[in-house]
Amino acid sequence: MNLEQILEKAKNVRLVAASKYVNAEIIKEFYYKGLSEFGENQVKALSEKKEILKNENLAIKWHFIGTLQSNKINLLIKQRPILWQSCNSLKLAHAVNKRLDYTLDTLLEINSAFEESKSGIEPNKALEEYLQIKEECKNLNLKGVMCIGTHSNDVKMIQKSFETTYKIYENLQKYGANICSMGMSKDFELALKCGSNMLRLGSILFKSP
Ligand SMILES: *Cc1c(COP(=O)(O)O)cnc(C)c1O
Repeated sequence: MNLEQILEKAKNVRLVAASKYVNAEIIKEFYYKGLSEFGENQVKALSEKKEILKNENLAIKWHFIGTLQSNKINLLIKQRPILWQSCNSLKLAHAVNKRLDYTLDTLLEINSAFEESKSGIEPNKALEEYLQIKEECKNLNLKGVMCIGTHSNDVKMIQKSFETTYKIYENLQKYGANICSMGMSKDFELALKCGSNMLRLGSILFKSP
């Protein structure tokens, strides 16, 4: 799939380029090809790439999509990302909330694959935790949910994890949720069918010939 075909498929949703595979120079190239939202999964990489590009006058919207270590919270806050997609516990929400001096748009990460190795909140606790964060963490502006699809070749399993996340998202819409971030390079077309409105694509953009 070339970039044009990917952009066509993603035309009705927000496309976040997961740029962990590339340096600032390549990010700039893709910006001029029409991408404007980029997501990093390490705070240090985010701050470094942002720093390199800061004098270029690019209207890049930076997302943070990775696991947030507590010793990186201040550095993340300094970056003022447009969206923190990976809030994965009430404890972490409180830790970030406490140090914020502005309102940070945030997604709750759902472990809809029920995988030990994946971070995120268990689906059956998601609604309650979402509302609790909303109530207790006034500097976090919860905008919806994010999930990483089941790591499997079994399409049914992946679909199930997306459906689980979408159901939570549907229930949260009455509380103002409007972002359902799911779908990566291998499963984004399925994610779109399941109701995703934000894709995070990495290898398909940056690693194809
Ligand atoms: C790397 C990454 C992606 C993109 O993964 P690809 O399979 O390369 O498209 C999406 N979300 C997160 C959280 C990532 O770390």
